[in-house]
Amino acid sequence: MTRTYVITGSASGIGASTAEILKKRGHHVIGVDLHSAEVVADLGTKQGRLDAAQATIDLSSDKIDAVIACAGLAHPKSVTVSVNYFGMVEFLNAINGSLAKSTAPRAVTVSSMASIMPNDKTLVEAMCVLDDELAAVARAQALVDLADGSEQLIYGSTKRAIGRWVRRECIKANWAGAGIPLNAVGPGIVRTPMVADMIATAEARQAIDKMVPMPLHYYLEPENVAHLLIWLASEENTHTTGQTIYIDGGSDAVLRGENIWDLAP
Ligand code: NAD
Repeated sequence: MTRTYVITGSASGIGASTAEILKKRGHHVIGVDLHSAEVVADLGTKQGRLDAAQATIDLSSDKIDAVIACAGLAHPKSVTVSVNYFGMVEFLNAINGSLAKSTAPRAVTVSSMASIMPNDKTLVEAMCVLDDELAAVARAQALVDLADGSEQLIYGSTKRAIGRWVRRECIKANWAGAGIPLNAVGPGIVRTPMVADMIATAEARQAIDKMVPMPLHYYLEPENVAHLLIWLASEENTHTTGQTIYIDGGSDAVLRGENIWDLAP
């Protein structure tokens, strides 16, 4: 059956690969990006998110079968908070009603291995507990201003906040109650423009491989992530929800070890 998919970050990398595969399979894809997309919008601003959601709803005739939210930045700057967390959460919330009109609605977002790495608790909570963009942006800017490397915590903090938001929201009336599985995927290193510089030289690769060791098949191609996103967004995914599924060549298992369940209450 032909489905309508909305893909943010569709102009490059993981989002572009996902869009291409789904189009080849005959589905209707509405891409959302800063350029080269059906909906050109800036998810880094409140107005941009609202405009993007309205244009998406119009193009889908108010019925969306799945959303795959890939748009993101890895800059150690405050704008990363606005795009990665608020750009994702506010856009998903704004199109939730159109998803609920599908007979098999699904939502997936892209987190990262960085979600299990060191983060700034104040920044994480300004996002996923306080839902306060101004406070979160100010905290991220304060980390930048420290000029001691703390700005490197910003990206991981946005991804930790996404994982927490997904777990909290997935069981609520507008997601589980509306029959919408809501998940995230957490990739290791994927060969996209986002990380091109980080893996360009042997020295750079050595540094990143220490942070994200990938014993199984090493770096990912964008389509490797696309296939998992597509399954989570398909009718076949009936009961998986609230999860961040790491697609990481084993780095979560290397870094966190075998027993993560004792963390549970
Ligand atoms: P990419 O840079 O190739 O693609 C990101 C896309 O997001 C671009 O098309 C860009 O224009 C779009 N985007 C950025 N800011 C935007 C904004 N304000 N409004 C609308 N669109 C915007 O990167 P990618 O690697 O494909 O990244 C996709 C997702 O995967 C991101 O969320 C990223 O954090 C995550 N991720 C990537 C890796 C990796 O190694 N590449 C690893 C883990 C997670």
